[in-house]
Amino acid sequence: MLLQGKKGLITGVANKRSIAWAIAQAAHREGAQLAFTYQGERLKESVAELANSLGEGTLPLFECDVSSDSQLDSVFGGLKESFGRLDFFVHAIAFAKREELEGEFVPTSREGYRLALDISSYSLTALAQRAVPLMTEGGSIVALTYYGAEKVIPRYNVMGVAKAALEASVRYLAFDLGPKKIRVNGLSSGPVQTLAARGISGFTDMMKIVESRAPLRRNVEIAEVGNAAVFLLSPLSSGITGEILHVDCGYNILGM
Ligand code: NAP
Repeated sequence: MLLQGKKGLITGVANKRSIAWAIAQAAHREGAQLAFTYQGERLKESVAELANSLGEGTLPLFECDVSSDSQLDSVFGGLKESFGRLDFFVHAIAFAKREELEGEFVPTSREGYRLALDISSYSLTALAQRAVPLMTEGGSIVALTYYGAEKVIPRYNVMGVAKAALEASVRYLAFDLGPKKIRVNGLSSGPVQTLAARGISGFTDMMKIVESRAPLRRNVEIAEVGNAAVFLLSPLSSGITGEILHVDCGYNILGM
């Protein structure tokens, strides 16, 4: 029960294949009390169904499109009312236009660039600003990232740039929030078949390449990402902040 008595917010659950859902299940197993956000009415019912399957009555559920400051404000207003304080949150949100995730990076549009960076990177800072006043006993923040932030992954394009900004934000937030005993880390997951992943052209090939070359000769399982996130959220990682933890069967260590 690594998260016994802890109160946390999980963002980015779209369906049962979402990485955020794997993290929620692992955090719940370890005793955490959870609240969820969903993006728009379209997802409300499915996220509510998943949240309630955790079997603790109705869990706090907030509509939140991270590009809306007023929705972000009402999430944390609602959390203050329902939880009083917050111990952790998970950022598992990314978006880029489909046409920016195929072909080359060169034709990336100004609007596509702005949108990807706003939703996939700035949102971490926007969430942290509002979470900090509720993290009165310290806290832990975990953001989901990908190796395309560090190295060129063909067709990941503007999302790689957004993840690089997200990882830099992890470090700057960790520096500012350390004195408040709030830790901020990134979790760099290997490829997992999710809704967002299906938007990246050639994603199935990426999985095949990892399987054939990664030191563990397989792709990561989503439950392994959930468990690693629990480690970063829990006191077991109390000395770690500003770090990017790769949970990718070792793929990132390869030079060739
Ligand atoms: P997912 O299930 O599709 O989750 C992505 C989430 O982002 C969805 O809930 C999506 O909601 C949400 N989102 C998009 N735009 C949003 C906005 N404006 N406001 C609020 N939420 C928004 O896919 P996933 O793969 O689990 O992605 C979770 C995180 O893991 C992402 O940061 C992703 O980059 C990262 N990651 C994924 C992989 C992988 O291989 N799958 C690997 C490494 C890192 P909608 O469905 O409504 O758009």
